[in-house]
Amino acid sequence: MIPGSFEYLCPTSKGDALKMLADGGENTRPLAGGHSLIPMMKLRMASPEKLVDLSKISELKGISVGKKEITIGAMTTQHELIGDEDLHRACPIMREAALLIADPQVRYCGTLGGNIGNGDPGNDMPGLMQCLDATYVVESSGGSRNIKARDFYQGAYFTALDTGEIITGVKIPMPAENHGYAYTKLKRKVGDYATAAAAVIVEIAKGQVRAASIALTNVADTPLYAEDAVKAIVGTSLDATDIDKAVAAAEAITSPVSDGRGSAEYRTKMAGVMVRRALESAKDRAGE
Ligand code: FAD
Repeated sequence: MIPGSFEYLCPTSKGDALKMLADGGENTRPLAGGHSLIPMMKLRMASPEKLVDLSKISELKGISVGKKEITIGAMTTQHELIGDEDLHRACPIMREAALLIADPQVRYCGTLGGNIGNGDPGNDMPGLMQCLDATYVVESSGGSRNIKARDFYQGAYFTALDTGEIITGVKIPMPAENHGYAYTKLKRKVGDYATAAAAVIVEIAKGQVRAASIALTNVADTPLYAEDAVKAIVGTSLDATDIDKAVAAAEAITSPVSDGRGSAEYRTKMAGVMVRRALESAKDRAGE
């Protein structure tokens, strides 16, 4: 299908982009890699009057691994996330999750900002950002504010962004050295969105879980931070019974729809399987 007509704007500075978005109002949308927005426009599920292309704004690109924090520009592509060795050393779950998104062609164009700003429950980065306790830096012509990934998602395609606001970057607290991690994703074939997926980080000291974080992808209208599942394992030795409790707590918060990926009951069970596998891998990978 062919999208409806729209005006295409291509600013080269962040300031110009924010002004264009403010002037355009609610029928103006930012365009990043275009791999979610353009298909939606072709299907006439989105009909913006103006598109503000962010791809020529160098201020919105790049990865910086500091001592306490990782910062990533919104226009950094999934391909760049996979290839960055400093990021991989500090936070290896990023590469593991990004490699499970679509295929190389999509990942060359698809950006972190587009993936997390989209509000599609099928996107993999939002759950990962909740697991990493990331903060989104949100800017408009009126100023900037920070929004926690865990507070950002309100419903399918509904987020905390107001008209004229974009995500300009993401801040991730530095994960502990020797943490265990895993992103597990069940999909029907390469390039598919998740039937269910789980992101897990654990810190283990003297055989006990000192801290943990668990989030789920595509088993509700929004990504889900699995707080009760985390409570079920912190302070334990993460043995089979502890993992059973976390799996049950994670399954309890899901509310998937029945669709081509399976019935709601199946997808809930698969969320549990993904959490179990992620916890087992994370435990194996954690150093003391
Ligand atoms: P765009 O498509 O340009 O934008 C998406 C939305 O976000 C739009 O509403 C846009 O206005 C908004 N937006 C863009 N940038 C910002 C910003 N900085 N701040 C606020 N809002 C912004 N994704 C997965 O996670 N997992 C998958 O398995 C997967 N499989 C795919 C398979 C195929 C065949 C295709 C075509 C896509 C797939 N995707 C998948 C989606 C892909 O990762 C997209 O690239 C991504 O979701 C959107 O990123 P984008 O840069 O292309 O954003």
